[in-house]
Order: sequence, then C-alpha cells, then structure tokens
Amino acid sequence: MRILVTAVYSVVIFIFAVAAFSGAQTQTFSTSAGPVKITPLNHASTLIEAGGKTIYLDPAKPVKFAGLPKADLILITDIHGDHMDSDSIKEVSKADTEIFAAPAVVQTVTTGKPIANGETKTWQGWTIEAIPAYNLKRGPAEGKLFHDKGRGNGYVLTYGGKRFYFSGDTEGVPEMRALKNIDVAFVCMNLPYTMPPEEAADAVKAFHPKIAIPYHYRGSDLTVFQKGLEGTGIEVRLLEWYPK
Ligand code: ZN
Repeated sequence: MRILVTAVYSVVIFIFAVAAFSGAQTQTFSTSAGPVKITPLNHASTLIEAGGKTIYLDPAKPVKFAGLPKADLILITDIHGDHMDSDSIKEVSKADTEIFAAPAVVQTVTTGKPIANGETKTWQGWTIEAIPAYNLKRGPAEGKLFHDKGRGNGYVLTYGGKRFYFSGDTEGVPEMRALKNIDVAFVCMNLPYTMPPEEAADAVKAFHPKIAIPYHYRGSDLTVFQKGLEGTGIEVRLLEWYPK
C-alpha cells in the first residue's frame, strides 16, 4: 500500500512539474500578425514567442534553459546580474542569435547591438522602442541612485498592432507615465531597488494599459498593487515569477 501511495504521489508530482515546465503560466495574446505567447521564467527573465521566433528578455539565473527553445533575439535592459548574465546569454544563444541591449550592457558583455533610451529598432515584424528606466530618488547612499538615468532600458515591443511594455528597473518616471496605447504592461516593483507597489500602481494608472502584470516583484505585496488599480478598468494579472 505504501508503495502504491508513493507511486501515485510521484505521478501527481510529475504531472505538476510537467505542467509548470510546459508553461502553465504562459499568457497568449492575439494580434493581427498571429498570437504572441509570453511566459514568465523568473524575476525579470521572460520568454516571448511569436511567428515561429523566440525572444528572451533578460535571460538570467536561476532559470534552467534546458528544454527551452534557443533565442532568435535577446533583449537586455541593464547591467545588473538579474538582467545581464553572460552564462545565460551563452546558454540560450545559437549561431545567429541577435542581441539588442542598453549601450552599457553591450560595453560589458562586448556583444550585441546597442539601443539607447529613445531609440527604435525593427526586427522580424517587431518594433522595439527603448524607454528610459531609472531611479528618481532611491539609491545605495545619499546622492546616489541604483539605476542612473540614461543607462537602463525598458522596452515597448509592438507586434501585429499590440503593444507590450516591459518596464526594466525603474521608478514611476515621467517617460513611463507618458506611454500611450499600451495593451499589456509588465511593471517592476521591489524595494529598495525600484519602487513599492503603491507607486507602481500610481504610475500604471497614469498611462492606463489594458492589462498590468507585476514582474520583478520579489518581496512586494501584490495585493497593494491590485487595490491601487481597483475601479480603474485596468485588468491586473498576477503570474508566478518565483517558481519553487
Ligand atoms: Zn533588477
């Protein structure tokens, strides 16, 4: 009996593991150019699939990339280890993988094409706009910021008429608040590095995406973010970015 129970238990665990691995968290968005599938991997690391192409945003540890598709494009927002990780970049790359990254990232990993704040690139049906991501007031010491203006990128990715925003590490800066026509916004929140959930909600309210998805939120109370957007008509979707 004990063996049977153990066996059943193992099968159940296995099914859950497969479900988790096969992207039970994957969000599919319809666009005029076909579906865009977005899968949370860990913290800021995100898998984006559309038109038979694979894009990784900030591929980094502790994500295990074995079994996941290789990258056609890698987008990197900033130089910190949770966004720029040479080992993970190597792991997901193949011979013709392209990398677009903030200039400071390109200088550090000496690979990829720089895309600076305010610049736009096109790639395989996508339009990629680099949006400034920076701290207004938070830093490691008086007069210092964790993320200096001009270094890090958020991205607005447009495909088949749908606009997806990934904030990068930022506070609720004017450039975020001024965004227009965003369908899905992936917004960071965590202290001390970026901003608390109430500030994230306030910034999201200002540009009013159709859907807001917290990411890069370690340690944050997401119910505060949800409450902050109640009654605004913005749909808040909570995904698991820290799988055990
Ligand atoms: Zn970060």
